[in-house]
Amino acid sequence: MIYPIVLYDNPILRQKALRIRQGTELRDLIGDMFETMRHAKGCGLAAPQIGKSIQLFVVEFSLDEKKEPIKKVFLNPSIVIDETAQNINFDEGCLSIPDITIAVPRKEVLTIDYFDENWNIKKEKVTGFLARVILHEYDHLIGKLIIDYAKESPHQ
Ligand code: ZN
Repeated sequence: MIYPIVLYDNPILRQKALRIRQGTELRDLIGDMFETMRHAKGCGLAAPQIGKSIQLFVVEFSLDEKKEPIKKVFLNPSIVIDETAQNINFDEGCLSIPDITIAVPRKEVLTIDYFDENWNIKKEKVTGFLARVILHEYDHLIGKLIIDYAKESPHQ
């Protein structure tokens, strides 16, 4: 099913999402999240954006039409950003904040520990656009939105 997407003035987007009990059956919810994300034409969707304050997000996008799209599920993620990496500004949109983009500085090098959709534990080093999408979605799990970056750097 396609969920309505929660908009930026909803307090659920400001909450810290709860860790999910390991082994919880999430297959239907994950399927619905992919369906909702595709319907909204997004490349990432976090559970708080469909009104569920739990540590789950999905990403799916294609940078190269000839290759398979990148499609991933992240449960209970934790991230270590490479602070030595360069800060890159990039205009980001958000399905919860329609019709605007904001230049968000991010370091696009990180290591992420998480569980996949089958509760297999994973650890990956990620760079580039996928790292940016992961950081955007991870922000949703800690109650942060792209408009906060505009507040942090009013002169950019
Ligand atoms: Zn977003």
